[in-house]
Formats: sequence, C-alpha cells, structure tokens
Amino acid sequence: MKTRRTEGFRQATCCVIGCGPAGAMLGLMLAREGVDVLVLEKHADFLRDFRGDTIHPSTMEIMDELGLAEGLLDLEHTKAPRIEARLPGGTVTVADLSRLKTRYPYITFMPQWDFLDYVTREAKRYPNFRLEMQAEAKVLILEDGIVRGVRYETPEGPCEARALLTVAADGRSSPFREQAGLKMVRTSPPIDVLWFRLSRRDGDPKDTFGYAGGGRFMVVINRGEYWQIAYVIRKGEYQSVRDDGLTAFRKSVGDTIPDLADRTGELQDWDAVKLLSVQADRLRRWHKPGLLCIGDAAHAMSPVGGVGINLAIADAVAAANALAGPLGAGRVRSRDLAAVQLRRELPTRAIQAIQSVAQRRVVSSALGPDGAPSIPAPARALLSLRLVRDLPARIIAFGIWPEHVKRREPLARE
Ligand SMILES: Cc1cc2nc3c(=O)[nH]c(=O)nc-3n(C[C@H](O)[C@H](O)[C@H](O)COP(=O)(O)OP(=O)(O)OC[C@H]3O[C@@H](n4cnc5c(N)ncnc54)[C@H](O)[C@@H]3O)c2cc1C
Repeated sequence: MKTRRTEGFRQATCCVIGCGPAGAMLGLMLAREGVDVLVLEKHADFLRDFRGDTIHPSTMEIMDELGLAEGLLDLEHTKAPRIEARLPGGTVTVADLSRLKTRYPYITFMPQWDFLDYVTREAKRYPNFRLEMQAEAKVLILEDGIVRGVRYETPEGPCEARALLTVAADGRSSPFREQAGLKMVRTSPPIDVLWFRLSRRDGDPKDTFGYAGGGRFMVVINRGEYWQIAYVIRKGEYQSVRDDGLTAFRKSVGDTIPDLADRTGELQDWDAVKLLSVQADRLRRWHKPGLLCIGDAAHAMSPVGGVGINLAIADAVAAANALAGPLGAGRVRSRDLAAVQLRRELPTRAIQAIQSVAQRRVVSSALGPDGAPSIPAPARALLSLRLVRDLPARIIAFGIWPEHVKRREPLARE
C-alpha cells in the first residue's frame, strides 16, 4: 500500500500518531524496511524543555546498528560515565558505566529535540517516510471493532489517514487507549519532580551527581553550559513549596548543593521551575485489531534512572522487528501485535518495580524528617562484590531485556 495524499485524505501502510522518541524511531525503522509510513505530530517543532534527554548505552547500540551512532555523537552532547551521590557521610558511586563492555560506556545527554531532528532527518531520506507536523490526531476510525486509521486536524482543516496498522506513540496522556477500550493499571508514585537549570562555571565539578541532605534530594546533571537540576518532592507538595516562596526555595537548593549556592539567584520566578507530575502506569493489553500502543502511551515511566526514552525506543525497535514483515505482506494479525507486548511487557514491569522500590527509599530516607540517607551496612558489603557492584550500571545502561535491530536488507536511502 503506497502513501497516497489527496486533500483531506491519506493512506499508508502504517500510521504512527506522535513523533516523540518511540514514534520517530518506529517511523525510521519501518521506512528503512520499505514500509510506507505516515507519522503525525501535533506540534510544529520538537522544542520542548526538560524531556527525556538521557540516551543510554542500549539506545546508542541501536543507533550503531542503524549506522547512525557516529552522526548522533557529532551533535552537541555531554557524557556521564558515572552517577554519584553526595550524601552527608561522603560520596557514593551509584552506577559506574565505564566498566561495562560496550562501545558506549556512558549516558549521553542531548536535548530531545536534537535527537528527534536527527532521527527524522535520517528517516526523510527514505522516499516512503512521511512526517506531517501540526497534525493533531483526534479520533480513531473504528469499523467493526477494527482500527482503520485516525481523523486528525491540521492548520488547513480536518484530515483522515487510513492505514493497515495505526500505532499510538503519543505519550502518557494518549486518548486513543480509552477510545480503543484498552484498560490501564495505574500506580501512585510518591514523588514529583521540579526541573530547573543553573549556569555552569569554570571550576565546577564535571560529573552528574545526586545530592541528599536536610530532608531534600536533588539530581544535578552536567549539560555543558548549564546544570539541569531535578528537585525531588513528595507527591502533592508543590503548592506548599510555592507558598514558602522563591527565597526559601533558592535557599534549600543552595543548602543541599553547596557547590551551586552562589548562583541560585538565577531563579528569578516560578516560570523557571517546571513541575513533572510523576506518573507510572501501564496498559493491560497494548493492542487491538489495527492498533498498537508503544512507549509512554503503553507505559508511563517514573523519571528514576532516566529510562523513559530508552524504553520507548526499545518498544519501537521490537515493534519494527516484529511488524515490518507482516506490514510488508499486507497482513497484521493480532498475534503479531501480541508478540510486541509479550517481548516488552516483562522488562517494562521489572523496571517499574525497581523504580518503585527506589522511590520509596528516597521518600523514607532522603525526604524523611532527619534527611540523612545512608547505605545500610549489608548493602555496602554486597556492593563491594564486583557482580553486584556493576548491577545498577547494567540495569541503567541496558534495562532488563535490550533490543537489537534485526539484520535485514534495508531499503536504499535517497
Ligand atoms: C519533564 C520530563 C522530564 C523527563 N526526563 C526524562 C529523563 O531525563 N530521561 C528519560 O529517559 N525520560 C525522561 N522523561 C520521560 C521521557 O520524556 C518519556 O518517557 C519519553 O519521551 C517517551 O517517549 P514517547 O515517544 O513514548 O512519548 P513522548 O515523548 O511523550 O512523545 C509523544 C509525541 O506525540 C505527540 N502527540 C501527542 N498527542 C498527539 C496527537 N493527538 N496527535 C499527534 N501527535 C501527538 C507529542 O507532541 C510528542 O511529540 C521525562 C519526561 C518529562 C515530562
């Protein structure tokens, strides 16, 4: 089936709703395998601050398999080979990726818009890839219980895209799950995160750190010219943090991160502070005939470990590996869609369980009244064993079940 375009009507083999990490990568990979793919993105560009900007070794290996790692690393980025925590009792290495056996033993920090610009630029080199910006999907086209495409809005007016398969990759608030009657399992993570940035100056430390003390926990990420800071609060505490005022907020940042106390005045108003309401959920069933959900649309992840973008991309790879053949053959069965869920659900649930334990520990320890987190003696003893010591780094780097690009003959690019 060729992508057909007439006024207000499109036809494609696969229509992907949303061009975030999951949708962009799926679009690229399907196009590379000769599938006619139409990606709809509601925004005019990819410029969104404080999104998943952490590219882990699992994703770098995928980019390498696609022949795109070098080009990606030509873009401006920073690397974090280690994650360390500065606790009142001293500095602890939480994860040392530099010891892992991979060509990319570090977390790559890059604005998500640069990553998406790069992936879509590469995808557009395939004649069968089509991306429509300012195209906001609204309603699934359902016929006899089968999803046949989606109706969407553009600045020129309403449109309809018909496809053999529609993929909802439109993030954590996807309305298409409900439209399709897919049920969610919701959990209530006990934390929210406030994101903001402060300048980096000569003589600042280089690494990415977690800081804890005085009942506060913050993660400080080196982004080259600035520090990106995650200020963790208890769920629902945002209003009281605001009521205490900006001066108290700046003081608490300076008290917890003494290295940056000299520049908290850069926070001039609350517009500089963005609230991430932490959400963790997953669909019971990721698909129905004609529809598949992937990425945050299938499972919103907590920001713990910065894995969201990497899991979304792993879903895209699993979906492309499993579905390029059936899409090419013009027939996608329920069991093809179920195979994607089967492959991705367990690793996702395992990571959500680990995040849940980590969040509870942050709340009971770092955000507790004494605010003096420490690593218990038995855990310290375990961490001195090499195999155990490398486990957090391995999980952060590769998750539970890393995906790899199936080696097929890709289509020639233009
Ligand atoms: C503030 C914040 C900080 C985060 N920090 C991290 C981090 O450090 N590391 C990490 O790994 N993860 C982080 N995450 C999570 C990470 O951003 C997501 O897990 C990841 O982006 C999920 O990718 P996705 O493609 O599934 O969905 P999204 O990135 O949400 O992409 C969905 C896309 O669909 C588009 N869209 C939505 N609705 C429609 C529609 N109706 N029609 C057309 N297009 C539509 C959206 O504009 C968007 O481009 C963070 C998230 C937030 C909100």
